[in-house]
Amino acid sequence: MSYFRRIEVGEAVLTTFLVGKLRMKTSEIVRPGTELPPGVSLDDVNDLPVYSAHIAIGKASIVIDPCDYEALLQVDASVKVPGYTPPPPLLDQMAQAGIGRAKITHVILTHFHSDHIIGSTLKEANGKYVPAFPSARYYLGAADWNSADVQAALKENPEYANTLGVLNSSKMLSLLERPVEIVPGLIVVPMPGESPGHQIVRVTSKGRVLYCIGDLFHEPMDVADPRIMSEWNDPVANLRSRDLFLVEASVNHALVVAGHMGVGRILRSPTSYGWKEA
Ligand SMILES: [Zn+2]
Repeated sequence: MSYFRRIEVGEAVLTTFLVGKLRMKTSEIVRPGTELPPGVSLDDVNDLPVYSAHIAIGKASIVIDPCDYEALLQVDASVKVPGYTPPPPLLDQMAQAGIGRAKITHVILTHFHSDHIIGSTLKEANGKYVPAFPSARYYLGAADWNSADVQAALKENPEYANTLGVLNSSKMLSLLERPVEIVPGLIVVPMPGESPGHQIVRVTSKGRVLYCIGDLFHEPMDVADPRIMSEWNDPVANLRSRDLFLVEASVNHALVVAGHMGVGRILRSPTSYGWKEA
């Protein structure tokens, strides 16, 4: 059984990798006081899938949000799904898909949360952490790096010292402050809200458009009502980012990869938007 999926977008090739699932109650993902859609309760248990992605475009081989699921469960056992057998690790799936980690040219981290960065390094037999993609340049939003949360975590939390800290001391980390075309046809665009430096990836090729949006939305109900968001979100920034994105993605009939929703499209109705799996 294969957990990865390959889709052509113009001349670019997208590969998505399901790496695991995180168990979270709705009350852990939505702000207190949020008006929920009919049939949804704060006590609902959700097994959120976690996706990493790869884009081949021109000569570039680009990883987005590498997640090492085993390492993630080690830092946060509370999200474990009882009895769940996870897919093979991301690097094994990539090898199976013919994508060599040594040949990765760029790694884009949509934001600093563990599930999106924890596969950016790996632990060698001697216990030392090294970049998982040794020839790549890594990109993080400057506002994430500069945030008090990340600066404190780098000092106090081994999980951050062993990932972002290692990338920084290896001089492989670039911090982005505004939209940047990393390679022809692929732009990284700030979409703050989920975190101060949250950013998304936009690919255009032969008239087709693809977005990798990290955690701009966590669940399809957030697309239907963009005011449904997490307690840790900046509500004003997040709603602005979401509204901008919904217009763009629906006008462009874009393919969308979301960190916890997989592959889909944004559908527009006269009064709202919706998520349709693709
Ligand atoms: Zn996430």
